[in-house]
Amino acid sequence: MNTKNFLLTQIRSLNDNLNSAKGIVNSPCLRGDLRDAVQVRFSALIEARRESLSQLRGDVQNDLPLETTWNSYLLLQNDCACIFRECLAFLEGALVRGAGLDDEICYVADDLLNEMSDQTEIKWSRLTILGEREFFDQTAEIIRLRFPDFSIWRLPIVAHEFGHLAEQELRDLPPRKNIYPIRVKIEALAGKEARKKAFLQEFFSDLFGVYAMGPAFACASILLMFNPLKAFDMTADHPSSAERVYFMLNGLAKISSEEATNPYQAIIKDLRKIWYESISESKPNLSHTDLDEKKLDNWIEGLYPELNKMSAIKYSASDWLAATGWFGAWDVDLKADRNLRMPNFEPNRSLRDVLNAAWLCRMNHPDKDKEISNAARSLCMAILKKRCTRSKSGFPK
Ligand SMILES: [Zn+2]
Repeated sequence: MNTKNFLLTQIRSLNDNLNSAKGIVNSPCLRGDLRDAVQVRFSALIEARRESLSQLRGDVQNDLPLETTWNSYLLLQNDCACIFRECLAFLEGALVRGAGLDDEICYVADDLLNEMSDQTEIKWSRLTILGEREFFDQTAEIIRLRFPDFSIWRLPIVAHEFGHLAEQELRDLPPRKNIYPIRVKIEALAGKEARKKAFLQEFFSDLFGVYAMGPAFACASILLMFNPLKAFDMTADHPSSAERVYFMLNGLAKISSEEATNPYQAIIKDLRKIWYESISESKPNLSHTDLDEKKLDNWIEGLYPELNKMSAIKYSASDWLAATGWFGAWDVDLKADRNLRMPNFEPNRSLRDVLNAAWLCRMNHPDKDKEISNAARSLCMAILKKRCTRSKSGFPK
């Protein structure tokens, strides 16, 4: 074996791995609908890398300098590692879903995301799987839900993950369809600072969350994700939760103020009170006044007009009215300490309404989370079942 064969051996091995990954994604052991959601995407990703490898094999055989070819190999190897990681995650997720171990929560999340995709005209025909946290990976566009939380409470957070896709994919209307207005706006606000850009992407996704999902997004994010003791901690690519709470509640207040009834005023007030009182009780030396509110307000003003181009997905006052109606019925049942009734619903109602009704209930009855979650879940399934009966599409057993 010579030095050329050394590199060719690794190229052959990587090519074999790509073939194995392709075989697994296409395996008949996986449920057909889950496989169909990613098969084309994975096949295209894998084929492109196989072609690059074949080109590299030619370069090695044609005696291009070894330093150049080893460098190209390294880049390809890293690229393939991302695909393999996603394949493995998909495989685990598809097997869990196929066996029904996710309690059908991924099915409910898929519907929420498909609705966002339809109403924003941003294509997403993939699937959700369980992962270590909520997460969107652009390689295969698979969205993760946090394992092992099978309740409905964290579902609103999928809107943040879809916000990352929207930020990347939203295009202007023809003839400007090659312009991506949100990317352009974020780059303009961030200047050349990579960290600022990463923060703005997170803020945009939170803003998308309250815009598309309504108050349920703020409730799920603040009450289930953030810790007041860590309110001012930030990472390399995530702003502090104090900033995020400020951003999402002020964003929600802006959305609310555009409606004649200013419908979210009361719930925003409640969430602000809970959050700021928790910070001042646990960290008396810190307060929200430490935030650069002017900067955050400017960013909300900068991002909001771009977001508002997707007005079909906006969670509106009339949607909220349906949610508050269901809340009213459940509130009576909870106060009377009896089982929560299955409310009547219009066939076009969205699962987003159920999540808002559920969170409104939980804010008022924090110790009845199980009862509320069960009722909300049954209502989600009833809505989905009615929709499937009408469209004759598949409904899980
Ligand atoms: Zn994010």
